[in-house]
Amino acid sequence: MKSIVIIGGGFSGTTTAINLARLSATPLQITIVSNNRLPCRGIAYSTRNSSHLLNVVARNMSALADQPNHFVEWLSTRSEYLDEPLPKLREKFVPRKVYGDYLHCLFQWYFGTFAEEKKMKLETVHDEARDILIKDQRAKVILTGGRVVSADKVVLAVGNQAPADFRLRGLDVRSLKYIGNPWIGWETRLPSSDQDVLLIGTGLTMVDTFLTLRDLGWKGKIFAVSRNGLLPLSHFKGFDYPELLDDENATIEFRKIFSIFKQHYRTTLNSNLNPAILVDKLRPFTQRIWQNFSVFEKKQFNRRFRTQWNVMRHRIAPEIHRQLREAITQKQLEVIKGRLCECVESKEKMKIRVEGKHAKRVIEVGAVINCTGPQESYVPSESKLFKNLFFHGLVQPDEMNMGIKVAPSFSVIDRGGNTSEILFAMGALLKGTLWESTAVPELRTQAFRIAETIAERSHSSEIVEDVLEYSI
Ligand SMILES: Cc1cc2nc3c(=O)[nH]c(=O)nc-3n(C[C@H](O)[C@H](O)[C@H](O)COP(=O)(O)OP(=O)(O)OC[C@H]3O[C@@H](n4cnc5c(N)ncnc54)[C@H](O)[C@@H]3O)c2cc1C
Repeated sequence: MKSIVIIGGGFSGTTTAINLARLSATPLQITIVSNNRLPCRGIAYSTRNSSHLLNVVARNMSALADQPNHFVEWLSTRSEYLDEPLPKLREKFVPRKVYGDYLHCLFQWYFGTFAEEKKMKLETVHDEARDILIKDQRAKVILTGGRVVSADKVVLAVGNQAPADFRLRGLDVRSLKYIGNPWIGWETRLPSSDQDVLLIGTGLTMVDTFLTLRDLGWKGKIFAVSRNGLLPLSHFKGFDYPELLDDENATIEFRKIFSIFKQHYRTTLNSNLNPAILVDKLRPFTQRIWQNFSVFEKKQFNRRFRTQWNVMRHRIAPEIHRQLREAITQKQLEVIKGRLCECVESKEKMKIRVEGKHAKRVIEVGAVINCTGPQESYVPSESKLFKNLFFHGLVQPDEMNMGIKVAPSFSVIDRGGNTSEILFAMGALLKGTLWESTAVPELRTQAFRIAETIAERSHSSEIVEDVLEYSI
């Protein structure tokens, strides 16, 4: 029996396993190794907080690339949505914990009934994979607990890395007042709720952290600082707008794309339209555009436009946006555009000096929370697994050092430039290769394609890759 090890049990690992069970004509031994205590949910869908909403509408969140309505159909069976008309349900931003329930439910069904009938064997192992050795066309996955699992194929579905520690003069990252990772088990480290806190970053992680603090009944002031001081935009109702590109000119160089974008940007502003529509219009082409850029162009894009792109691209549910605006009006939240310059820590407080374009100020807080988002580069990386994979030459960084190099089949390319027949990678690891490799619509396609390859199936044309981001 062919054996597959999937490292990571979040959305990517779970849906790869499900697709393997669906697509393979022969029985497989599938082992999912995950260091997350909660099965299937990964970082994003492990939250129990109902205020943490999906930032993608329900109609785009099917876990199955060949069944685009699957999530909405599942959602419509839940008692809390029974009275919701279908067109409204499709446009809803539901709590992320509900999406975690969906993934777990899907997984149980496929591996309870379906896979059993196909004589598939599944094992989930709660441990950390720390190394992979490859010999004679077989892999040995070495776990921190000491176990070694042999495999014919290994899928790296490890998700985002934890945020890198924030570097600031005078800031001791070992301090009890510094919270380096607000994704896992951080609430217990907060000071008393009457103290002010500083969130570093104003993006999606900051939004989640703010919502958690607010739900904890935070009485102190919450400061959020970033160099641009920009909050994520709200999702909006779509409107008719001409296409920017078509299949023929999607591979033009940076300069031309930039000029097209700039021209449309002006048009939208002059016509009082939301320019974020432009990012949505480019969405079917973004992976191709990115892949066609030279390294120089990619670096140029990252340096000059990445922040604005992310603000327009990674939008939040309108109700969350409204809550942020209200908190700003009520002075519960203050968003500051500026640069953190220095931290001076005393027994009770941290004093942070922030410099804006026109003003300097010192903020005194009981805790500093790093909301800068995941560390991107894998060289260097804190991950034991990746340290070892780089050491053995089984992987190489992509040309942007934003992840690892993969072939179009998602097979990993080793240090010698050889395409692996054993190792596959997906998700955040592919950011430098594809640029757009973060959200469910991309990841479900990757999971499906990898499963097709491993199951030796020809590629189906039935999968839906393009999605409408804006609300209908
Ligand atoms: C807070 C947050 C909210 C988001 N909201 C949305 C949304 O609304 N819609 C959307 O489409 N996308 C959203 N995303 C994007 C999200 O990244 C993807 O939707 C998806 O959840 C990624 O899943 P993943 O399995 O690739 O990664 P993860 O969810 O990170 O799962 C990977 C798992 O692998 C484990 N792991 C890593 N290394 C090892 C190892 N060596 N050994 C064992 N286990 C290991 C990790 O601990 C983790 O549990 C959000 C992301 C975040 C962080």
